[in-house]
Amino acid sequence: MVSITREQIAVLVELQSIDVESTRIQAFLNGIKPKMDEFDKQIQSVEQTIEEKESVISGLKQEYRLRESDTKDNQEKIRRNNEKLVSVKTNKEYHAILKEIEGLHKKNSTIEDEILQKLDYLEKEEKLIVQDKSELAKLREEAAKEIAALNEKGDTEREKLKALLSSKEEIEKTMNPEVIKRFRIAREQTHGSAIAAVKNTICQGCNMNVPAQMYNELQRFDKLEFCPRCYRIIYWAE
Ligand SMILES: [Zn+2]
Repeated sequence: MVSITREQIAVLVELQSIDVESTRIQAFLNGIKPKMDEFDKQIQSVEQTIEEKESVISGLKQEYRLRESDTKDNQEKIRRNNEKLVSVKTNKEYHAILKEIEGLHKKNSTIEDEILQKLDYLEKEEKLIVQDKSELAKLREEAAKEIAALNEKGDTEREKLKALLSSKEEIEKTMNPEVIKRFRIAREQTHGSAIAAVKNTICQGCNMNVPAQMYNELQRFDKLEFCPRCYRIIYWAE
């Protein structure tokens, strides 16, 4: 049996509220890094999209230049053929050259259609990239703001936690070590809340009735009692 007083019960209740608050703060602090990572991930994903589009665009531009140089080659061939036309001897040769010129014109016309299509696509992609870049800038700005706020709140909360833990330590020093030991065991068993009030015979930790004799004993506030259901330290409350 561990003896206790009404005042000590009040101290345990206070310790518990310190625990609850400390746990809340710790959870918040633990959540900061994943939140920052999430921002990084979002930014990286947009950056990657932009990179991919830029590579598509640069490929298109290269193709465009190649096709353009093809048309120039063809034009040069046409020019040379036209020169040849002046000095041909036979009708057959003349028609052959004309046919070749015609073929070159056709080729160029096809290439020009292709070029126009590519330019059209290029223009669209470039517009999209501008949108993506402005989205990225917004995202970066937002992330920087959120991260600054998180860091600021983190600093405040860390200070709060430090103060809570040191006051907890001070409070524990004033208590019977055996009571503190039982309190800690109860906290571990119940994953957090170590003490619960009993109101109208009902344990507020697990909502179950405590035995009548125990309920009567609780009102004496002379020894540590545990809920037979949830193992929390229990105390009588009106
Ligand atoms: Zn209980």
